[in-house]
This record gives sequence, structure tokens and C-alpha cells, in this order.
Amino acid sequence: MFETLKPQPADKILSLMQTYKADPRTDKIDLGVGVYKDASGNTPVMRAVKEAERRLVADQTTKAYVGLAGDPAFADAMIDLLLADTLPRDRIAAIATPGGTGAIRQALEMVKLAAPAATVWISNPSWPNHASIVNYLKMPKREYRYFDEATRGVDFDGLIADLGTAAAGDVVLLHGCCHNPTGANPTLDQWDRIIATLQDRGAVPLVDVAYQGFGDGLEEDAQATRRIAAAFPNLMIAASCSKNFGIYRERTGILMGIAADAAEATLTQANLNFLNRQNYSFPPDHGARVVTTILTDPTLRADWEAELEQTRSSMLTLRRQLADELRQRTNDDRFDFIADHRGMFSRLGTTEDKVGALRADHGIYMVSDSRMNIAGLNATTVPILAQAIADADI
Ligand code: PLP
Repeated sequence: MFETLKPQPADKILSLMQTYKADPRTDKIDLGVGVYKDASGNTPVMRAVKEAERRLVADQTTKAYVGLAGDPAFADAMIDLLLADTLPRDRIAAIATPGGTGAIRQALEMVKLAAPAATVWISNPSWPNHASIVNYLKMPKREYRYFDEATRGVDFDGLIADLGTAAAGDVVLLHGCCHNPTGANPTLDQWDRIIATLQDRGAVPLVDVAYQGFGDGLEEDAQATRRIAAAFPNLMIAASCSKNFGIYRERTGILMGIAADAAEATLTQANLNFLNRQNYSFPPDHGARVVTTILTDPTLRADWEAELEQTRSSMLTLRRQLADELRQRTNDDRFDFIADHRGMFSRLGTTEDKVGALRADHGIYMVSDSRMNIAGLNATTVPILAQAIADADI
């Protein structure tokens, strides 16, 4: 049977990780994979996570199955974190999923159940797994313009023009905050126009929230998602806890399906449960329970928020330092966009050749589309990167 298999294309980011590992240079700099690193290059377990895990080990009395949707307390805590009181709780169906990726996969499977002919719109560029899963599921797919290569900001006119041609029932995948890979994000006024455009077309939003708390703050990063949630009878939200709780390998995420009313939410919940059952039965529990413990304990929550805020502000500081260094070294303000971008990434906006030259000549690793993980930098490596960018004439 297996002899019929075709080779699969290597995941660009994961193979970049391998190349980086194999590079013997001791002064190499990894700006590739999307994992937060502190100033020493470590991805620490957050304090509140350690404490919640300690409590779980001490207090948990069973590992018996939980429900198909996961622990309802996890859904309640995540809905509160992301949506606060935007919507009545009885309009929201939710399932725990293996990470944000699992939530996106299940969201797309929901589209296949509910509206098999719907086209899925994805920003160009987007996190590569979006298009890859849509293609794998053989769903109709279109792209909307997103990034202005000249300003390195959002190509807002292009975005509105493209989404203005969406058909009724099309599903539009939006990054709720901290766009990956560009780092460029719409303003709240622009979000209002995006919402109006999608309402006008009768499109259904699918909001991917993978970095809440990494941009402008926990509340601020939820604003666009809340406005979207308040504006449509139906939408889906796929949220990941991998980054903001630093529990990448625990595979913790949630898919929310927002229905027009409570009866429709019950139907939606049954279908979400069904999809979990078909794909993996019960979703992973450990990470979800850690998150619930943190979000519902005032002391743990305050400590988690403080550590997350420190993570966020250290990335902002690195952004400002890099923009300043580049201004000094190039005598030009064309890199100021780095300080305006939000989240873990910025797209430098250069050619694959120049990205290759940075790797070959300086041991600086970024994704071939010139996406840099800002968290891969520290106060010592910022000037080195700035000089390399200036030397490479980017
Ligand atoms: N969505 C975006 C935009 C991402 O960048 C990521 C992770 O890199 C995810 C979703 C999913 O993350 P995970 O499946 O690790 O929770």
C-alpha cells in the first residue's frame, strides 16, 4: 500500500529549524520558528503554568474521559477571555481542540458540513497551514490582498476590493490580532470597514486568534474579534493557547461556533461534538485544565497576566531597538514599520536571495518570505541584525 504514496513537500519552517540546528556557527541567530524566546534564547514554562500543573498533579483524582467538547469550564473561561460579555453565552457553542491548528481544521470541517460549496478566503500572505489545510480538504479557496510591499503595512484598499467580491455564504479567514506572517494589522476603524464589507456580501467570518496578549495587550488584542462577533449572526473563532500560555506542546485550543440563537447553538454544539468524535473523540485535557486553573484563580491569573505583559513589552522593546538601529545605520526611516508591527513577527519585505545571503554570510535565519521572529532577538543581536540588513542593501 505505502508504495503508492507520493513524497510530501517539506514544511518550510520546520526544515529551516533543521538547517539552523545543523549550522556549526556559534554566533548564528534563529529568527525562524514561531516560538517565544526570552533574552537568553529559552522558551520558559510560565510561572502560573508550573503552579497550575503542580496543583493538578497533587489534586487530580481521575484521568477518566471528559465530554466530547472537553471540560465546559475551559470553554467558559476562554469565552470570557476572548469575548467577555460581547454575546449571550447561549449563542456560543464550543469544543476544545488540539491547539489552534485543530480548531482551524475543525472549523473548516464545519464549513464542509454546513456549506460544502462555500469558498474559503485567505489573506495573501497568511500562515501557510491555512491554505495547506483548505487544499487538503479540497475546498474552494481564494486569496484576498493583505500586505503592501511598499509600505509594509496592510494593503487596505486591495483587501476591501477583493473581499467586496465575496459571495454570500463564503467564509473569510481573518487574523484577529498579530497577523502572521506580516505583523501588519488593520486599525479598529479599518476593522469596522472590513466588517461592513463582509456584512454587505453576506460572508461568514472565521477568526483565527493565536496571539492574544502579544500585540497591544490582552483586552486590546480581543477588540477586533469582539466587534466581529457582535456583528454577525454566524461566525467561528479558532483560538490557540500555545503562545500566550507558552504551552505549545500541550496542544490546547478552542473552536467557538456562534449561532443566531440558543436553539441554533444547540444544533451547532451537537455538530461540533460530532466532529470531535469523528476525528479524535475526546480532545486533549491537560493543557485545557491548566488554562482553566489559571484563568479562574485570581492569584494565578494576575501572575500569568504580568508574565505575559512582560513578554509583550520585551518584544515591543526589541522592535523599537531594531527600528532605531536601522534608522541610524541606513540614514533612512524605511524600517520604522518594524516598530509599528505587532505580535511575534515582522515581514522584512525582501527577496529570497537576500534572505539566503543573510543566512549564508551572517548565520541569520529567517523564513524565505523574509518573516522574522522578533522574539528570536536580544539586545546583543539587534545591532548585528541591523548591520547585516544594512550591508545586504535591503
Ligand atoms: N494560527 C496562526 C496564525 C498561527 O501562527 C499558529 C501557530 O503558529 C496557529 C494558528 C496554531 O497554533 P497551535 O496549533 O500551535 O496552537
